[in-house]
Amino acid sequence: MTAEKIDGKAFAASLRETVGRYAAEFERKANRKAGLAVVLVGEDPASQVYVRSKGKSTVEAGMNSFEFRMDADTPEQALLDKIDSLNRDDAVDGILVQLPLPKHMDEAKVIATINPDKDVDGFHVINAGRLAVGQEGFVPCTPLGCLMLLEDRLGDLSGKEAVVIGRSNIVGKPMAQLLTDANATVTIAHSRTKDLPGVVRRADIVVAAVGRPEMVKGDWLKPGAVVIDVGINRIEGEGGKGKLVGDVDYQEAMQVASAVTPVPGGVGPMTIAVLLRNTLVAAYRQEGIALDKDAL
Ligand code: NDP
Repeated sequence: MTAEKIDGKAFAASLRETVGRYAAEFERKANRKAGLAVVLVGEDPASQVYVRSKGKSTVEAGMNSFEFRMDADTPEQALLDKIDSLNRDDAVDGILVQLPLPKHMDEAKVIATINPDKDVDGFHVINAGRLAVGQEGFVPCTPLGCLMLLEDRLGDLSGKEAVVIGRSNIVGKPMAQLLTDANATVTIAHSRTKDLPGVVRRADIVVAAVGRPEMVKGDWLKPGAVVIDVGINRIEGEGGKGKLVGDVDYQEAMQVASAVTPVPGGVGPMTIAVLLRNTLVAAYRQEGIALDKDAL
């Protein structure tokens, strides 16, 4: 059996198009564009690429992008002051501080300074709490994107056995919560899990968010499982060139599963598309304009 490749790139493109339509509607109704502010501290090359790409996608979706760059040795208080001024700026609906931050900054303190209603990354403890108790808030972009791909593929997730490998605050834990809310039966696995292959073999749905290249093998999977690979790992490819692979052995998984996300082109493109979605939702909420629950 050869599994279907889940085309996250195509799904993300269609979500971005939908966001664009609603962004235009928002502009008509609110008389202003929705706006996302991205703050980058330091010169980390990967972060610079992400920030550029987020800015470009925001503008393409018909929203304003505000970019702020600060030197790596900027005092923490200057960043907190910047966030404070963005919190009070009515043109800014979403605030994203690109991580990782330089070592002298306290990430938790920085995130806690963002107004939770503008925290479109969904990292603020208030938003983590809202997700935990089922209140409206913001859900981290990557797991929400994974849930969208799963629901698109499987429809109703009720009663499905799901195994999430990884328990980070930004992927594993919120993923497990979203799957629980979608009525799946969820197991969270991590580095201390005993017999991980045996645990994964029970799953109709596998979400791998580990950061270990091609760790999940074909014989770990139940035939017909749907596999979402969040991992992004750079390994040495042919001719010494760097190559991106996921946490799942894609070739092997394709022989056993019913559907698998590739890396790249699976979960990755969803993350930015959901960020745009969250920003627009923040804008509608900020202006008190009703947005159809299933619109985005
Ligand atoms: P973290 O390093 O924060 O968490 C990794 C998790 O994997 C931990 O819970 C850890 O367990 C678990 N783990 C590590 N080794 C093993 C093992 N051998 N067996 C079982 N579990 C293990 O990573 P993130 O959640 O931030 O990211 C995970 C991956 O997803 C990375 O490759 C990252 O690059 C990628 N990523 C991709 C995104 C995208 O847009 N596509 C966005 C965010 C992340 P323990 O808690 O016990 O230490």
